[in-house]
Amino acid sequence: MISQRLLGWYSHNKRILPWRETKNPYKIWISEIMLQQTQVATVIPYYERWMKSFPNIEALAKADYDYVLKHWEGLGYYSRCKNIHATAKSLNGKLPETFNELIKLPGIGEYTAKTILAIAYNKKEVGVDTNLERVGFRLLGLKKKSKFNNNRVKKFLENIQDKSKPGDFNQALMDLGSSLCQAKAVECIPCPIVDDCKASTNDNPLEYPEMKKSKPIPTLNIAVCIIFHNDKLLVMQRPKHKMLGGLWEFPGGKIEKGESKQAAVIREIFEETCLIINNPKYLGEVRHQYSHFKVKISLFQHHKKDISSLKIKENYLWTSIEGLNSLALPKANHKMLDFLKKLD
Ligand code: SF4
Repeated sequence: MISQRLLGWYSHNKRILPWRETKNPYKIWISEIMLQQTQVATVIPYYERWMKSFPNIEALAKADYDYVLKHWEGLGYYSRCKNIHATAKSLNGKLPETFNELIKLPGIGEYTAKTILAIAYNKKEVGVDTNLERVGFRLLGLKKKSKFNNNRVKKFLENIQDKSKPGDFNQALMDLGSSLCQAKAVECIPCPIVDDCKASTNDNPLEYPEMKKSKPIPTLNIAVCIIFHNDKLLVMQRPKHKMLGGLWEFPGGKIEKGESKQAAVIREIFEETCLIINNPKYLGEVRHQYSHFKVKISLFQHHKKDISSLKIKENYLWTSIEGLNSLALPKANHKMLDFLKKLD
Protein backbone atom coordinates (compact mmCIF):
# COMPACT_ATOMS: atom_id res chain seq x y z
CA MET A 1 0.00 0.00 0.00
CA ILE A 2 1.15 3.50 -0.80
CA SER A 3 0.97 4.80 2.80
CA GLN A 4 2.97 1.83 4.08
CA ARG A 5 5.73 2.45 1.56
CA LEU A 6 5.70 6.10 2.55
CA LEU A 7 5.81 5.34 6.30
CA GLY A 8 8.56 2.76 5.78
CA TRP A 9 10.66 5.41 4.04
CA TYR A 10 9.81 7.96 6.75
CA SER A 11 10.94 5.67 9.56
CA HIS A 12 14.47 5.69 8.09
CA ASN A 13 14.61 9.19 6.64
CA LYS A 14 12.61 11.47 8.89
CA ARG A 15 14.15 14.76 9.89
CA ILE A 16 15.08 15.04 13.55
CA LEU A 17 13.37 18.23 14.66
CA PRO A 18 12.75 19.55 18.18
CA TRP A 19 8.97 19.65 17.77
CA ARG A 20 8.98 16.02 16.69
CA GLU A 21 10.11 14.93 20.14
CA THR A 22 6.69 15.75 21.53
CA LYS A 23 2.96 15.33 20.99
CA ASN A 24 2.21 18.34 23.18
CA PRO A 25 -0.55 20.23 21.29
CA TYR A 26 0.79 23.62 22.38
CA LYS A 27 4.27 22.84 21.03
CA ILE A 28 2.90 21.41 17.78
CA TRP A 29 0.75 24.53 17.35
CA ILE A 30 3.66 26.95 17.89
CA SER A 31 5.94 25.00 15.57
CA GLU A 32 3.29 24.89 12.83
CA ILE A 33 2.69 28.64 13.01
CA MET A 34 6.42 29.40 13.01
CA LEU A 35 6.91 27.11 10.00
CA GLN A 36 4.39 29.01 7.85
CA GLN A 37 6.33 30.72 5.04
CA THR A 38 9.54 30.08 6.97
CA GLN A 39 12.32 27.54 6.48
CA VAL A 40 12.88 24.79 9.04
CA ALA A 41 16.50 25.81 9.73
CA THR A 42 15.38 29.37 10.52
CA VAL A 43 12.62 28.19 12.83
CA ILE A 44 14.67 25.81 15.04
CA PRO A 45 16.50 28.45 17.19
CA TYR A 46 13.31 30.55 17.47
CA TYR A 47 11.31 27.53 18.58
CA GLU A 48 13.89 26.51 21.17
CA ARG A 49 14.17 30.01 22.62
CA TRP A 50 10.38 30.35 22.68
CA MET A 51 9.88 27.10 24.57
CA LYS A 52 12.48 28.10 27.19
CA SER A 53 10.61 31.36 27.87
CA PHE A 54 7.05 30.14 27.29
CA PRO A 55 6.94 26.40 28.04
CA ASN A 56 3.14 26.27 28.08
CA ILE A 57 0.02 28.24 27.22
CA GLU A 58 -0.27 29.73 30.72
CA ALA A 59 3.27 31.16 30.59
CA LEU A 60 2.61 32.65 27.17
CA ALA A 61 -0.74 34.13 28.17
CA LYS A 62 0.81 35.84 31.21
CA ALA A 63 3.74 37.36 29.30
CA ASP A 64 3.78 40.98 28.21
CA TYR A 65 3.30 41.32 24.44
CA ASP A 66 6.49 43.35 23.91
CA TYR A 67 8.47 40.51 25.51
CA VAL A 68 6.69 37.92 23.35
CA LEU A 69 7.34 40.00 20.23
CA LYS A 70 11.05 40.18 21.05
CA HIS A 71 11.09 36.36 20.74
CA TRP A 72 9.61 36.66 17.25
CA GLU A 73 11.92 39.45 16.10
CA GLY A 74 13.37 38.60 12.68
CA LEU A 75 10.97 35.73 11.94
CA GLY A 76 8.68 37.99 9.90
CA TYR A 77 4.90 37.89 9.31
CA TYR A 78 4.36 39.41 12.73
CA SER A 79 0.59 38.96 12.70
CA ARG A 80 1.37 35.31 13.48
CA CYS A 81 2.89 36.39 16.79
CA LYS A 82 -0.02 38.70 17.59
CA ASN A 83 -2.52 35.91 16.85
CA ILE A 84 -0.64 33.34 18.94
CA HIS A 85 -0.57 35.67 21.94
CA ALA A 86 -4.26 36.61 21.56
CA THR A 87 -5.19 32.93 21.28
CA ALA A 88 -3.13 31.95 24.34
CA LYS A 89 -4.91 34.63 26.35
CA SER A 90 -8.32 33.40 25.20
CA LEU A 91 -7.71 29.76 26.20
CA ASN A 92 -7.91 28.20 29.64
CA GLY A 93 -4.44 26.71 29.32
CA LYS A 94 -5.50 24.04 26.84
CA LEU A 95 -5.82 23.90 23.07
CA PRO A 96 -9.21 22.53 21.89
CA GLU A 97 -9.39 19.04 20.40
CA THR A 98 -11.95 19.56 17.64
CA PHE A 99 -11.64 21.05 14.18
CA ASN A 100 -14.63 23.37 14.66
CA GLU A 101 -13.16 24.89 17.82
CA LEU A 102 -9.59 25.15 16.51
CA ILE A 103 -10.60 26.86 13.28
CA LYS A 104 -12.25 29.69 15.22
CA LEU A 105 -8.97 30.69 16.90
CA PRO A 106 -7.03 33.66 15.45
CA GLY A 107 -4.33 32.54 13.01
CA ILE A 108 -5.44 28.89 12.85
CA GLY A 109 -6.68 27.91 9.40
CA GLU A 110 -7.71 24.57 7.97
CA TYR A 111 -4.17 23.32 7.42
CA THR A 112 -2.95 24.16 10.92
CA ALA A 113 -6.07 22.82 12.63
CA LYS A 114 -5.89 19.49 10.80
CA THR A 115 -2.15 19.14 11.31
CA ILE A 116 -2.47 19.76 15.07
CA LEU A 117 -5.31 17.22 15.25
CA ALA A 118 -3.33 14.60 13.34
CA ILE A 119 0.01 15.02 15.10
CA ALA A 120 -0.99 15.95 18.64
CA TYR A 121 -4.36 14.25 19.01
CA ASN A 122 -3.90 11.31 16.61
CA LYS A 123 -7.06 12.25 14.69
CA LYS A 124 -7.59 11.05 11.12
CA GLU A 125 -6.99 14.41 9.43
CA VAL A 126 -4.68 15.49 6.62
CA GLY A 127 -3.36 19.04 6.77
CA VAL A 128 -2.56 19.90 3.17
CA ASP A 129 0.21 22.49 2.90
CA THR A 130 2.17 23.30 -0.27
CA ASN A 131 4.41 20.24 0.14
CA LEU A 132 1.54 17.80 0.54
CA GLU A 133 -0.40 19.44 -2.24
CA ARG A 134 2.54 19.20 -4.65
CA VAL A 135 3.11 15.51 -3.91
CA GLY A 136 -0.64 14.87 -4.32
CA PHE A 137 -0.75 16.65 -7.68
CA ARG A 138 2.22 14.61 -8.88
CA LEU A 139 0.81 11.30 -7.64
CA LEU A 140 -2.41 11.98 -9.51
CA GLY A 141 -0.66 13.47 -12.55
CA LEU A 142 -2.61 16.73 -12.32
CA LYS A 143 -1.24 19.87 -13.90
CA LYS A 144 -3.89 22.54 -13.61
CA LYS A 145 -4.29 24.29 -10.27
CA SER A 146 -8.02 24.71 -9.65
CA LYS A 147 -10.42 24.40 -6.75
CA PHE A 148 -11.70 21.16 -8.25
CA ASN A 149 -8.22 19.63 -8.51
CA ASN A 150 -7.21 20.89 -5.06
CA ASN A 151 -10.23 19.08 -3.63
CA ARG A 152 -9.38 15.93 -5.58
CA VAL A 153 -5.91 15.98 -4.07
CA LYS A 154 -7.29 16.51 -0.55
CA LYS A 155 -9.76 13.63 -0.88
CA PHE A 156 -7.11 11.39 -2.41
CA LEU A 157 -4.66 12.03 0.45
CA GLU A 158 -7.43 11.45 3.01
CA ASN A 159 -8.25 8.13 1.32
CA ILE A 160 -4.71 6.83 1.28
CA GLN A 161 -3.88 8.02 4.83
CA ASP A 162 -2.78 5.31 7.23
CA LYS A 163 -5.51 5.80 9.83
CA SER A 164 -3.45 4.23 12.61
CA LYS A 165 -0.64 6.79 12.20
CA PRO A 166 -2.19 10.04 10.97
CA GLY A 167 0.56 12.26 12.40
CA ASP A 168 3.37 10.24 10.84
CA PHE A 169 1.51 10.16 7.52
CA ASN A 170 1.30 13.97 7.45
CA GLN A 171 4.93 14.36 8.44
CA ALA A 172 6.14 11.72 5.97
CA LEU A 173 4.53 13.68 3.12
CA MET A 174 5.98 16.93 4.47
CA ASP A 175 9.46 15.36 4.48
CA LEU A 176 9.05 13.81 1.05
CA GLY A 177 7.91 17.19 -0.32
CA SER A 178 10.90 18.96 1.16
CA SER A 179 13.50 16.38 0.10
CA LEU A 180 12.89 14.09 -2.89
CA CYS A 181 9.85 15.88 -4.31
CA GLN A 182 10.63 19.60 -4.18
CA ALA A 183 9.01 22.28 -6.34
CA LYS A 184 12.11 22.76 -8.49
CA ALA A 185 13.90 19.41 -8.07
CA VAL A 186 12.81 15.77 -7.94
CA GLU A 187 14.56 12.50 -7.30
CA CYS A 188 12.11 9.89 -8.47
CA ILE A 189 14.37 6.86 -8.53
CA PRO A 190 14.82 6.55 -4.74
CA CYS A 191 11.26 7.82 -4.08
CA PRO A 192 9.28 5.22 -2.08
CA ILE A 193 6.06 5.92 -4.01
CA VAL A 194 7.46 6.11 -7.54
CA ASP A 195 5.33 3.13 -8.67
CA ASP A 196 2.17 5.01 -7.63
CA CYS A 197 3.14 8.33 -9.20
CA LYS A 198 1.70 9.42 -12.54
CA ALA A 199 3.96 12.46 -12.89
CA SER A 200 7.08 10.28 -12.67
CA THR A 201 6.08 8.55 -15.92
CA ASN A 202 6.28 11.91 -17.67
CA ASP A 203 9.57 13.32 -19.01
CA ASN A 204 9.40 16.18 -16.58
CA PRO A 205 7.59 15.62 -13.26
CA LEU A 206 8.37 19.23 -12.35
CA GLU A 207 5.57 20.28 -14.70
CA TYR A 208 3.09 18.92 -12.11
CA PRO A 209 1.42 21.08 -10.93
CA GLU A 210 1.97 24.05 -13.24
CA MET A 211 3.69 26.95 -11.50
CA LYS A 212 2.14 30.38 -11.21
CA LYS A 213 4.11 33.10 -12.96
CA SER A 214 5.55 35.29 -10.25
CA LYS A 215 4.63 38.97 -10.42
CA PRO A 216 7.39 41.57 -10.42
CA ILE A 217 8.00 42.91 -6.91
CA PRO A 218 7.53 46.69 -6.59
CA THR A 219 10.09 48.89 -4.80
CA LEU A 220 9.08 51.57 -2.31
CA ASN A 221 11.37 54.55 -1.83
CA ILE A 222 11.56 55.55 1.79
CA ALA A 223 13.48 58.21 3.71
CA VAL A 224 14.36 57.54 7.35
CA CYS A 225 16.20 59.63 9.92
CA ILE A 226 18.01 58.46 13.04
CA ILE A 227 17.49 61.41 15.37
CA PHE A 228 19.92 61.80 18.26
CA HIS A 229 19.32 63.87 21.38
CA ASN A 230 21.98 63.77 24.12
CA ASP A 231 23.40 60.41 22.91
CA LYS A 232 19.95 58.84 22.86
CA LEU A 233 18.09 58.06 19.69
CA LEU A 234 14.42 58.23 18.88
CA VAL A 235 12.36 55.12 18.13
CA MET A 236 8.63 54.85 17.64
CA GLN A 237 6.39 51.83 18.09
CA ARG A 238 4.28 50.80 15.11
CA PRO A 239 0.53 50.58 15.76
CA LYS A 240 -0.45 47.01 16.71
CA HIS A 241 -3.04 46.64 13.91
CA LYS A 242 -0.60 47.60 11.12
CA MET A 243 2.07 45.59 9.30
CA LEU A 244 5.01 44.94 11.68
CA GLY A 245 2.61 45.95 14.48
CA GLY A 246 4.23 46.50 17.87
CA LEU A 247 7.79 46.71 16.50
CA TRP A 248 10.00 49.74 17.11
CA GLU A 249 11.45 51.74 14.25
CA PHE A 250 13.22 54.96 13.33
CA PRO A 251 10.90 57.68 12.07
CA GLY A 252 10.49 58.27 8.36
CA GLY A 253 8.22 57.44 5.46
CA LYS A 254 7.55 57.31 1.76
CA ILE A 255 9.26 59.63 -0.69
CA GLU A 256 6.50 61.13 -2.83
CA LYS A 257 6.77 61.32 -6.62
CA GLY A 258 8.99 64.23 -7.64
CA GLU A 259 10.16 64.83 -4.07
CA SER A 260 13.85 64.74 -3.15
CA LYS A 261 14.92 62.31 -0.42
CA GLN A 262 16.02 65.21 1.78
CA ALA A 263 12.70 67.06 1.38
CA ALA A 264 10.86 63.81 2.10
CA VAL A 265 12.74 63.08 5.30
CA ILE A 266 12.26 66.64 6.61
CA ARG A 267 8.53 66.48 5.81
CA GLU A 268 8.04 62.99 7.25
CA ILE A 269 9.84 63.80 10.49
CA PHE A 270 7.77 66.93 10.95
CA GLU A 271 4.51 65.08 10.21
CA GLU A 272 5.35 62.26 12.61
CA THR A 273 7.04 64.14 15.43
CA CYS A 274 6.53 67.91 14.94
CA LEU A 275 10.34 68.25 15.05
CA ILE A 276 11.97 70.45 12.45
CA ILE A 277 15.25 68.98 11.25
CA ASN A 278 17.41 71.24 9.12
CA ASN A 279 20.12 69.76 6.93
CA PRO A 280 19.97 66.13 8.11
CA LYS A 281 23.15 64.26 7.19
CA TYR A 282 22.71 61.71 4.42
CA LEU A 283 24.37 58.42 5.41
CA GLY A 284 23.59 56.20 2.44
CA GLU A 285 21.18 53.66 1.08
CA VAL A 286 19.86 50.52 2.78
CA ARG A 287 17.80 47.91 0.95
CA HIS A 288 15.45 45.28 2.27
CA GLN A 289 12.95 42.87 0.79
CA TYR A 290 9.60 41.85 2.26
CA SER A 291 7.45 39.12 0.75
CA HIS A 292 5.50 41.40 -1.60
CA PHE A 293 7.66 44.47 -2.00
CA LYS A 294 11.16 45.84 -1.64
CA VAL A 295 12.22 49.00 0.13
CA LYS A 296 15.03 51.34 -0.84
CA ILE A 297 15.77 53.37 2.26
CA SER A 298 17.59 56.68 2.09
CA LEU A 299 19.10 56.91 5.55
CA PHE A 300 19.82 60.18 7.33
CA GLN A 301 20.95 61.15 10.78
CA HIS A 302 20.43 64.34 12.72
CA HIS A 303 21.47 65.63 16.15
CA LYS A 304 18.66 67.64 17.72
CA LYS A 305 19.42 69.83 20.72
CA ASP A 306 15.97 71.26 21.33
CA ILE A 307 13.16 68.73 21.39
CA SER A 308 10.57 70.94 23.12
CA SER A 309 8.28 70.81 20.06
CA LEU A 310 8.21 66.99 20.04
CA LYS A 311 4.68 65.62 19.74
CA ILE A 312 4.08 61.99 18.77
CA LYS A 313 0.79 60.09 18.59
CA GLU A 314 2.32 56.61 18.91
CA ASN A 315 4.46 55.16 21.71
CA TYR A 316 8.00 56.45 21.49
CA LEU A 317 11.28 56.20 23.36
CA TRP A 318 14.63 57.94 23.56
CA THR A 319 17.08 55.09 24.00
CA SER A 320 20.78 54.35 23.84
CA ILE A 321 21.97 52.07 21.04
CA GLU A 322 22.47 49.31 23.65
CA GLY A 323 18.91 49.88 24.88
CA LEU A 324 17.62 48.83 21.46
CA ASN A 325 18.66 45.26 22.29
CA SER A 326 15.63 44.87 24.55
CA LEU A 327 13.20 46.11 21.88
CA ALA A 328 11.85 44.19 18.89
CA LEU A 329 12.89 45.93 15.67
CA PRO A 330 12.07 45.09 12.04
CA LYS A 331 14.98 43.58 10.10
CA ALA A 332 15.28 46.70 7.94
CA ASN A 333 15.93 48.77 11.10
CA HIS A 334 18.64 46.33 12.19
CA LYS A 335 20.24 46.84 8.77
CA MET A 336 20.12 50.62 9.28
CA LEU A 337 21.67 50.24 12.70
CA ASP A 338 24.46 48.05 11.31
CA PHE A 339 25.03 50.67 8.61
CA LEU A 340 25.31 53.40 11.27
CA LYS A 341 27.71 51.34 13.42
CA LYS A 342 29.99 50.71 10.41
CA LEU A 343 30.30 54.46 9.87
CA ASP A 344 31.53 55.07 13.43
S1 SF4 B 1 8.04 9.74 -7.90
FE1 SF4 B 1 9.03 11.71 -8.25
S2 SF4 B 1 7.39 13.12 -8.73
FE2 SF4 B 1 6.45 11.31 -7.86
S3 SF4 B 1 6.21 11.75 -5.70
FE3 SF4 B 1 8.16 10.72 -5.91
S4 SF4 B 1 9.71 12.33 -6.20
FE4 SF4 B 1 7.66 13.23 -6.53
